[in-house]
Amino acid sequence: VKKRILLLAGGQSGEHEVSLMSARSVLAALPPDQFDVTPVVISKEGRWLPPTQTQHALEQGVAPSGGDLVLHRAASAEGYDAVFPILHGPMGEDGTVQGLLTLAGIPFVGSGVLGSAVSMDKVMTKQVLASAGIAQVAWRLAVRREWTDRPEAVRASADALGYPLFVKPANLGSSVGISKVHGPDELDTALTLAFSLDRRVILEAMTTHRPREVEVGILGNDAPIASPVGELRFGAEFYDYETKYTEGRATMHIPAPLPEGVAARVRELALRAFRALDCAGLARVDFFYVEETGEVLLNEVNTMPGFTTTSMYPKLFEAAGLSYSALVARLVELALERR
Ligand code: ATP
Ligand code: MG
Ligand code: MG
Ligand code: MG
Repeated sequence: VKKRILLLAGGQSGEHEVSLMSARSVLAALPPDQFDVTPVVISKEGRWLPPTQTQHALEQGVAPSGGDLVLHRAASAEGYDAVFPILHGPMGEDGTVQGLLTLAGIPFVGSGVLGSAVSMDKVMTKQVLASAGIAQVAWRLAVRREWTDRPEAVRASADALGYPLFVKPANLGSSVGISKVHGPDELDTALTLAFSLDRRVILEAMTTHRPREVEVGILGNDAPIASPVGELRFGAEFYDYETKYTEGRATMHIPAPLPEGVAARVRELALRAFRALDCAGLARVDFFYVEETGEVLLNEVNTMPGFTTTSMYPKLFEAAGLSYSALVARLVELALERR
């Protein structure tokens, strides 16, 4: 008997378009003899689009305005065996949709409220991972009110970290709103941009040298497994939005050519982070490897990583012998198992 899946895509975050790309791949990969899939695209305004508009959004890569405001479409989703919320960023990857589905009693792919919310927020992630003894760059939190009331205090915490540094909205992805700040003269522009996207902003010291960027996929619930380690290489100064989504700007190397001990450590740390953050189903854990010093620093955890057929997460498991469609089917199984 076929499993009925509700696939949620799009969403209100700056990663709306990326989500639609991921969703198209997932849709194409769910074997029609095993799954009966209903896609629903959520517009940037938060409206849940009816079937024809959803189809249009998937084909055009952007959602039309209008649509359905009725969130309880999800709550009335009896008739679905599971939901695949292939949503990236706030209002999708951050525990909000997960809370709605939990209330509605519908199993879903990926982390629950706690794991999603904590992993989405870069500051909360760093605090939890620090308490688990995982090495990371130095950082400071700034909230919007501080930036408007006491900008000099925010500038002082940047100066304390030293330059260059990174300024990021605490809750986002795809490098949206992230700036590399080379000196104090670039700081205000970076903070203004980040605060236009989030109440909470993280300032991060840059690694001591330009890092190598390595990523690990984790798959499972309470007995998760780690994929091989992958590496991203690119010419840009950092892994920004254009580099991530423009064909040919970055190359993926799987397995990453790393000293044996380093790869093992990265995988072990990724599993430890997955458990510490109470993740479930899947996560992609991103690291900086500083070759000059041998440091392995955990950068962040993505609970709904990019999921096109050419994205890092599915590629990592493909290298481990799990095809894209087998991986998607496995994720649905893990969602049902967690019930
Ligand atoms: P994703 O699309 O993976 O969710 P994101 O938007 O959450 O990404 P980060 O991974 O935190 O953003 O940062 C984006 C990129 O910026 C990194 O891949 C890296 O190239 C660069 N970067 C971020 N922080 C640092 C740092 N502290 N030191 C050096 N480089 C950094
Ligand atoms: Mg991220
Ligand atoms: Mg992300
Ligand atoms: Mg990242």
